Amino acid sequence: MEEEKKEVSEEEKETETEEAVEEKTLAEQILEKWVPRTELGRKVVAGEITDINQILDKGLQIKEPEIVDLLLPDLKHELILIGGRTGKGGGCQRIPIRVTAKVTKSGKRFRYGAFVVVGNEDGIVGIGMAKAKEPRLAIEKALRKAKMNLIKVKRGCGSWECSCGEPHSIPYKTEGKCGSVRVILMPAPKGVGLVCDDESKKLFRLAGIKDIWVKTFGATYTRFSLIRAMFNALKNLYLYDRG
Ligand SMILES: [Zn+2]
Repeated sequence: MEEEKKEVSEEEKETETEEAVEEKTLAEQILEKWVPRTELGRKVVAGEITDINQILDKGLQIKEPEIVDLLLPDLKHELILIGGRTGKGGGCQRIPIRVTAKVTKSGKRFRYGAFVVVGNEDGIVGIGMAKAKEPRLAIEKALRKAKMNLIKVKRGCGSWECSCGEPHSIPYKTEGKCGSVRVILMPAPKGVGLVCDDESKKLFRLAGIKDIWVKTFGATYTRFSLIRAMFNALKNLYLYDRG
């Protein structure tokens, strides 16, 4: 009998929260807390800019992540595993947070680093890296940075084996660099999938690329440099187009 009662009360709770969500839309919730400080932000609030492409096509810099929250409410994000923890067997387990220790007079001071990829799975992607005193804050900061660092990815089907004309891959070969890491991305036919490591897959998935071949050179175990090099390669797709 008691159990039944409990179930009912839980059901009631659920409907209550649902109603609360319906009262205010996501956009209303953002506008309540945010007062834009930039011209771009004010234009978004005023409804003069309603599409993120109006910003990205002009190469305007986004300095307030709320702009992206409003224009791309379905933006998804993933953490890149940049940290490592020594496992029981002696191997290294990859974790999303990289911990660095600074030795001071009063002892060790820890800093936490996070690396976030955001994307709409349809041609828009961004990356952001940040450090903070707490892991949670590092992730939040990295997420904000990623939203302010969006690029449009030129997609297509540049594979001579496929030539279906759909945007499942990239239109042509592209290259990118970061530090000692160099990457070459090549168009792949439908069904090949993302031929690369698991962390890089997150970047391509969020960009909306389904098939790609990747060649890497240099210290690719540095995930930060690797993903950045891939991001630069995607950015360069537009450069190559112009040249
Ligand atoms: Zn194709």
